[in-house]
Amino acid sequence: MRFASRRDFLKTLSAMAAVSASDLSSHLPFPMAAVDRIPPTEFCANREPLAKTSFYPLPLTSVRPKGWLLKQLEIQANGLSGHLDEFWPDVGPDSGWLGGNGESWERGPYFLDGLVPLAYLLQDERLIAKSRRWVNWTLENQQANGMIGPRKNDDWWPRMVMLKVLTQYQEATADPRVVPLMQRYFAYQLRELPNRPLRDWGKYRWQDEVASVVWLYNRTGNSDLLQLAQILHQQGYDWHAQFENFAFTGKMDAKELGVREGMPIPDRAMQTHGVNNAMALKSSALWWLVSKDQSYRPGVNRQLVALDTYHGIPNGMFSADEHLAGKNPSQGIELCAVVENMFSLEYAMGILGDPLLGDRLEKIAYNALPGTLTDDMWAHQYDQQPNQIQCSLRQRPWTTNGPESNLYGLEPNFGCCTANMHQGWPKFTSNLWMASAEGGVAAVAYAPCELNTKIRNVPVAIEERTTYPFEGAILLAINPNRPVHFPLSLRIPAWATEPSIRLNGKTVTVARAGSFAVIDREWKPADQIELHFPMGPTVSRAYHNSVVVERGPVIYSLDISTEWKKLRTRGMTADWEAHPKSAWNYALDINERTSGTANEVMGTNAERGVFTLQGAPVLIEVKGRKISQWQEENGCAGELPPSPVTSAQPQETLRLVPYGAAKLRITAFPELGGPSGNSG
Ligand SMILES: [Zn+2]
Repeated sequence: MRFASRRDFLKTLSAMAAVSASDLSSHLPFPMAAVDRIPPTEFCANREPLAKTSFYPLPLTSVRPKGWLLKQLEIQANGLSGHLDEFWPDVGPDSGWLGGNGESWERGPYFLDGLVPLAYLLQDERLIAKSRRWVNWTLENQQANGMIGPRKNDDWWPRMVMLKVLTQYQEATADPRVVPLMQRYFAYQLRELPNRPLRDWGKYRWQDEVASVVWLYNRTGNSDLLQLAQILHQQGYDWHAQFENFAFTGKMDAKELGVREGMPIPDRAMQTHGVNNAMALKSSALWWLVSKDQSYRPGVNRQLVALDTYHGIPNGMFSADEHLAGKNPSQGIELCAVVENMFSLEYAMGILGDPLLGDRLEKIAYNALPGTLTDDMWAHQYDQQPNQIQCSLRQRPWTTNGPESNLYGLEPNFGCCTANMHQGWPKFTSNLWMASAEGGVAAVAYAPCELNTKIRNVPVAIEERTTYPFEGAILLAINPNRPVHFPLSLRIPAWATEPSIRLNGKTVTVARAGSFAVIDREWKPADQIELHFPMGPTVSRAYHNSVVVERGPVIYSLDISTEWKKLRTRGMTADWEAHPKSAWNYALDINERTSGTANEVMGTNAERGVFTLQGAPVLIEVKGRKISQWQEENGCAGELPPSPVTSAQPQETLRLVPYGAAKLRITAFPELGGPSGNSG
C-alpha cells in the first residue's frame, strides 16, 4: 500500500485499528498523541452468532455538532462539565480513579462517561487533556490478575461504567491499549463471577456491561465473551419478566418499599428505582441481540407502555423520586434517570431500528434534559417536576428523596447526578446518525450536525442544516468524494402530519409518519435533501385529563416569573432556590380541536442558547383564566383539578415557552370547559 501523506497513513491505520485493535497493539509505529485527531470512520458490525441489528452506532466523532447544538455543547464545556474536577473533591485529584485515596466508586467513571465524548466532539484540547489523565490511570494500573480500577473496593458496578468510558475513548482515538485491557479484565471476571456474583447496583445494571462485552466481541471474536454475557444475564435481575407482568402500578412510600436508613436497599426498592428502570430500558433489546430469542424483541416497547400507563409524565419520562411515583406532574424525575433513559433509547434504537424510539429520545433531549439544568449548565436539580412552582429547601411529597431535591445547585440531595449528568448532550450528538445494516446511514434524531463516514470505502460527508426542533425544515447536503450507491434512511416523526421529502428540488418518495423513509440510489457530490415536517401547536392529554401544549418534539410551559435566591456558595458554583413571582394557577382555553389557532411568536436571540428564555426561537400564546381552587401545597402545585374546569376569572393571554427554558413552570394544565369557562 502507498499513502499520499503521513496523515493519510495514520487515517488508514486508525480506521483499521477500530476493527481489530488487538492485532495492532504490539507494534504501533507512532506516538499516541498523533492519533488523537484522526478518528476511525467505520463501524463494527455484529459477529455471528449475534443477531443482525437494524443499525450500528458510528465511532465517536463521526457526528459533530453544528449550529445551536454546538453552542449547547460549548455552554456545557464552559459550565460544570468543564470545571467540576477543579473544585468538587469527588472527581478531584484525590480520586481513587487517579490513584488517590478519595472517592473510589462510581463518581470518577460517571464524570468521564460524559467528559470523554464532550472533549472529543468539541476537539477541546483542555478537556481532552483532562480526560486522558483519567483514562491513562486506568490503562496503566491494571492488576496482574486483570482487575481494573481502585484497589479500595472490588465492586463490579463502577467498573461497568468505566468500560463504557473506555469503548468511547477507543473509538475516538484508536488507542491500542484499550482492547487488550478489556480482554484481560473480562477473562478475570469470567473466572471470578461464579465465586463473587453480581450484587446490589451491578445486579440491576448488568445490561450496561453486556453492551461493552458485545462491543469487544465484535472486535475480537473471542467466544469466552459470549459465555461472560450469559453469566451476567443469569446473575442479573430479570427486567424482561418485571414488565411481562408489571406489578408496580402506583406510588409507594418508604415503608411499602422497605427502605430504612442505614440498611441495604431492598429488592423492591431496586426494582422501582428510577435510574435502574431507565438503564434497564435497553436490556430486552440487548438480550435479543445476544440470544436471538424473539420473545425479547417487544420488551422495550412493553416497558415504555407500562411506565407511560402508570407513571408517565409530560416531558417524555416517567416519575421516580427516587422510586416510581405515579402520573401526578408534581412528582419528580431524577437527572441521572433522564440521561440514562436517553442512552438506553439510543442503544435500543440501534438494535431495533424502531422510529418511535427516536421520537421519544427527542422528546426527552429537548425537554427533560435542558429543563433540569440552569441556562449556563453550572447548576442542576436532582428531581425536576413538569409542574414546578417552587424550588426550595423543603420536604416535598416525594417517595423517598430529601428536602434539597429540586434545588438548582452543585449536588442537591445526592451527588450522583453531579457526576453522571455530563453524558446527556454528547451521547445524543454522537447518536444522531447511525450506520444501517444495508450498508447506508440513518438519521435517527435531528439536530444541526455534520456526519463524516465511509460508505463502500468512499468518504461521505452529510451536513445537516436546521434549527430543528423549533422548525420542521431540515436540509441535508450530501457530499460523497465520488458517486456512491447507498440507502439513506430518514426517520419521519409520528407527530408529523404532512411530511415531505425533496431530492434536488423534486418530491421523491412518500413519507409516512412514524416510519423510516429509505432513499436507495447513487449519491453524487452536492446532492441535497430537503425534509419538511410541518409543525404547529397541538394538545396532548396527561394526568386528570389535563392539556399539554406541544409543537413538534418540544412541549411548551407557562413560564412563572422567578426570583432566584442564592442559598450558599459551592466552590465555583452555588446552590439556588427559585421562588415564584407571578401567578401559575391557570386553566387553558385550548383542546385538540382549537390548538391550531394558538399564536406562534418567533424569538430572535438564539445565540444565548435555544433552551433559554432569551434565546427560545418559538413561543406560543394561549388564552387562559385563573382557577382559584388550585393552590400551592407543600411547595408544589396542589392536586390538579380534573378537566374540564370552569372559571369566572377574567380571560388573559398567556405566553408559553419551551419547557427547557422555564425553570419554574406549569406544563399540564386544567382545560377550560363549560358555559362560564368559555364565555367572556
Ligand atoms: Zn442521580
